[in-house]
Amino acid sequence: MLSAWNINAQAPPPTPVGPLNSDVSPPRMPSEVKKLAAGEFSVDSKVGWQQTSLSLQQGDKFKIKYVSGTWTVDFRSFTYVGPEGYTPQEDSQIFQFCKLDSSWVYGRLVGKVGNGAIFPIDRGGSFTANAGGELSLRIHDVDACLVDNDGSIVVEINGKEKVSPGSQFQFDDLPVKFSKISSVNWYGNTEFAYKYRDLYYRQLRGLHSGLDFIVPGGTPITSTVNRNGTVISVNNQPLPNDWGAGPSNVVVDYVDYIVLYGHTSPTDLPSLGAPIKPGDVIAHSGTDGNTYHLHLEVIKKYPSPAPGTKPGNIRTNPVLFFSQSDQNKMGTKAKRAGDGGIFHTPSPGNQWQTPEDQPDIDPVCCDQWLVP
Ligand SMILES: [Zn+2]
Repeated sequence: MLSAWNINAQAPPPTPVGPLNSDVSPPRMPSEVKKLAAGEFSVDSKVGWQQTSLSLQQGDKFKIKYVSGTWTVDFRSFTYVGPEGYTPQEDSQIFQFCKLDSSWVYGRLVGKVGNGAIFPIDRGGSFTANAGGELSLRIHDVDACLVDNDGSIVVEINGKEKVSPGSQFQFDDLPVKFSKISSVNWYGNTEFAYKYRDLYYRQLRGLHSGLDFIVPGGTPITSTVNRNGTVISVNNQPLPNDWGAGPSNVVVDYVDYIVLYGHTSPTDLPSLGAPIKPGDVIAHSGTDGNTYHLHLEVIKKYPSPAPGTKPGNIRTNPVLFFSQSDQNKMGTKAKRAGDGGIFHTPSPGNQWQTPEDQPDIDPVCCDQWLVP
């Protein structure tokens, strides 16, 4: 539990413990410098928050494991300890006003994700991000009290843990190595989609229902979803069902979500019913007749509201299912919702810009084939 202590507030100046010279430096130990292995991160006890390269979305799972090292919050007076920090007995001997959380012992390894709540890590374990952003690590000791610290702790960070099927739908990576997101057509009520609402975007009444990755023709499209899927439509077969992503597309059912890979090349298409595993190349990018790109749609499946009636389905913003680092690769065009300045602004009631706001689309034309 977090105390009411505001970690962003200026810490009270510590009462000096023992002689504090302007030149405070610990005795140098024989060199412990060791090359860090991949995934390892060294946390310096003399520095405050240290940002790792792990970028997380709220709810993402990650692992941290203690590898080596010790540190101290006062090299003159107290022992060197591991990432679990001091024993309560030794901790009670230490000046108490340099704590981020008054209920925690000094010397613990602690972390935070973005601006989320700080959490203890100690010797490590499995964690769930309580906020989105970069993972940062530090010793439990406020910034103003770091001057007499010494030592460092090396940890191994694993944020690429595969989520088992049945857990939250997400993309573990981009489906294509792409050069950019289309400047005219990311997701939602774009000006382009509105302009051509009676032509290309008629079915969704002016909503661009996917995300366009500009890639050269023939670029492999990989299944990067964190689970297995099944090909349920190829080139609008078995049911003639133009989702607005013609002339050809491949649709994969991932149980609770469906992904439509639009404008695929007519060569090297998978067969209907083909199983899709993470990492499989599904198809190659083609053209809509004007530009080569992958049109990616994520469609949430809903059960049929009543026997014999059409199940609902909702196009959602694909951006929401990618990690923050993948979103960064997409650039500023990867709008998370309808917050783009050049989005078309339709009348209230037709602003289909967040997943919750998506319409259950035209009941006659487009999703009959979802009936079990
Ligand atoms: Zn598109």
